[in-house]
Amino acid sequence: FKIPEIRNEPMRSYGPGSTDRQKLEEALARLDAQAPFDVPAVINGKEVRSGDIQPQPMPHNHAKNLSNYHAATPEAVTAAIDSALAAKNDWENLPWADKAAIFLKAADLIAFKYRYDIMAATMLGQGKNAWQAEIDSAAELVDFLRFSVKFVEQLYTQQPSENSEGVWNRTEFRPLEGFVLAVTPFNFTAIGGNLVGAPAIVGNVVVWKPSPAATYSSYLVYKIFLEAGLPPNVIQFVPGSPPDIVKQCIDHKEFAGLHFTGSTHIFRKLWKDIANNIDIYRGYPRIVGETGGKNFHFYHPSADIKSGVVQALRAGFEYSGQKCSALARAYVPRSLWEGGFKDELVKQAKSITIGPCTEFEHFTGPVIGRPAYDRITGIIEKAKAQGGEILAGGKGDDSKGFFIQPTVILTKDPKSITMTEEIFGPVITVFVYEDKDIDATLKLIDTTTEYGLTGSIFGQDRQALAHASAALRNAAGNFYINDKCTGAVVGQQPFGGARASGTNDKSGSISILYRFISARSIKENF
Ligand code: GLU
Repeated sequence: FKIPEIRNEPMRSYGPGSTDRQKLEEALARLDAQAPFDVPAVINGKEVRSGDIQPQPMPHNHAKNLSNYHAATPEAVTAAIDSALAAKNDWENLPWADKAAIFLKAADLIAFKYRYDIMAATMLGQGKNAWQAEIDSAAELVDFLRFSVKFVEQLYTQQPSENSEGVWNRTEFRPLEGFVLAVTPFNFTAIGGNLVGAPAIVGNVVVWKPSPAATYSSYLVYKIFLEAGLPPNVIQFVPGSPPDIVKQCIDHKEFAGLHFTGSTHIFRKLWKDIANNIDIYRGYPRIVGETGGKNFHFYHPSADIKSGVVQALRAGFEYSGQKCSALARAYVPRSLWEGGFKDELVKQAKSITIGPCTEFEHFTGPVIGRPAYDRITGIIEKAKAQGGEILAGGKGDDSKGFFIQPTVILTKDPKSITMTEEIFGPVITVFVYEDKDIDATLKLIDTTTEYGLTGSIFGQDRQALAHASAALRNAAGNFYINDKCTGAVVGQQPFGGARASGTNDKSGSISILYRFISARSIKENF
């Protein structure tokens, strides 16, 4: 059994007049006309409608819901766990080639049959523009599924290299004993697919709690898994109130692993809840999380201004900064700042267009919802009150959708609120350092926050780059040189952060699979 060659899914352009543009526009119009979709829980392959209906509003047009989903009741969650556990034996014992075929087929279904539908669901429901939807719900989602197959193949062939005479040693990669809970975020449809897909492909059964703000796109991904041949009870789909469903799952004695992307605060709470339950479990549950960030760009005086500015704008404002990896803090030397960086940054930030994701001309769109809008605009006001100077943007408009202008804040205080608190919105704060203070600035970058997710350094002086790279060794799990701090590609830049940003188990690489297996070493004498 040899898997087909796995490569990154080619990105499409959606240029005006292209077939892709036309098909995507058709899908957008169709979904918009059909919304709101009625989304049930799916337990053991059966749709379960609790009647406790929750709305998923469209961020660019909050008067309209993309979906009305049925929040799973406690009984439904119990049924989901029971049904997943009942499926475990068969799924575990299905030959891995058959499991691989399901994931390869799901990837092809997304790439070739449902690409526009999933993108449209991600655009309407999560407020992405076409290109942000393409890199997420088309390319990255497909990559996650295909590369998982490649990683499993690599994993299963990692066998002991030594056998004493008359002995055959081998390693069996068993799934965890129990079920895995996947708690998935709104900001990447792809992450949802991977948080359930990675544990499942190595033989685990999974209870999937999707983000309320990404319910519809998650539901489409789930249905594609079923169409690809996934036995219906291997992954159970339980939308609803996060704290209740999650608590019920981790209070269950068969809970064996958590695969989480979300806030640091919630992750810490879950970790403590799991610790408190440790005596009821069979083993030590695997806890895998990717959480917050407060990511940086450090510009050395030798950096190129034009490309440095473009990378900052992309890292800070694409998808309105709603990426864990988004740029939050930029450290620019005075020589560059006064030598053109400031003018270029401000001019370009002000020229960015923002508008509904259904219109193709905008660089960026809304933030996800009311709480996010209020929180982000509130932080901008606090920054102003603390002396932050708004160089671009700073205003919001929530009359129809949750729009916040791309905002650049200049601060004299490197520990001010927007330099330290995660915003998850379109706000970049700049701190100008004196050229002679490079070492102090690197230290500042390393010690200002508790996070360690992504960061970039820019410069042409290779010795200076090497020095900065060493000084910032622990400041970021994903580190870029002369590139923006977002946009890790599956199979190319394994993704994940340390410190308060997560367990750094690197999605998009073989490492993540180790967390969801429990190996058995076998020695056989002849
Ligand atoms: N993997 C994404 C990136 O590199 C970010 C993922 C996230 O926001 O959680 O930009």
